[in-house]
Amino acid sequence: MELEEERRQVADHCRRMRADGLVVGTSGNISVRSGELIAVSPSGLDYDALTPERVGVHRLDGTPVDAPLRPTTELPMHLAVYARTDARAIVHTHSTSATVLSTLVAEVPPIHYLIAMFGGPVRVAPYATYGTEELAAEMIAALQGRTACLLGNHGAVTYAATLAGAYSQAVHLEWICEVYLRASAGGEPRLLPPEEIERVRRKLTTYGPGANAAN
Ligand code: 13P
Ligand code: ZN
Repeated sequence: MELEEERRQVADHCRRMRADGLVVGTSGNISVRSGELIAVSPSGLDYDALTPERVGVHRLDGTPVDAPLRPTTELPMHLAVYARTDARAIVHTHSTSATVLSTLVAEVPPIHYLIAMFGGPVRVAPYATYGTEELAAEMIAALQGRTACLLGNHGAVTYAATLAGAYSQAVHLEWICEVYLRASAGGEPRLLPPEEIERVRRKLTTYGPGANAAN
């Protein structure tokens, strides 16, 4: 089977996305790129019924290579990200706090240093109908210099060099949106200055369980 491992990853993470509460029903979609091909979740399929064989394989222009079902309606969004960035995986969710905030602000402000993991404050793309080229274009504009954006009155998009990375960003984006909403409910939150976000962005490039140089 073409892109067997990538299809398995897409199916596993789609189910996980629902279990983690990042989507309800058949909302959201995921893709992974390998070379000049992508594995992408099908449209509107109950995630319980999503097997690796049902994950479609398409070329970067969208033409199907091995796709038993219709691809996600957001294929134009996925293709646009792969065409313009070095993304290797994309996660689109309707997670609650991100969606709530997408109706209230033009940008997720720098309320927590982890906003730096997306490259800085996360923009909200103006609303456009799901599945349209117009939505893909608004999303691309909102992603300038960032690895995430919110889609106005709709949800969130994240991308990374791996699916684990894109998924982790989707979880953290939801968390930051929730922090902002809760803080705003209690008053006017203090924000962090751009130079601190830039400092953290550089520092995060070496964050993780590396070998202890002091040993
Ligand atoms: P699909 O089921 O077609 O992937 O659509 C879900 C979605 O989130 C549309 O924005
Ligand atoms: Zn959606």
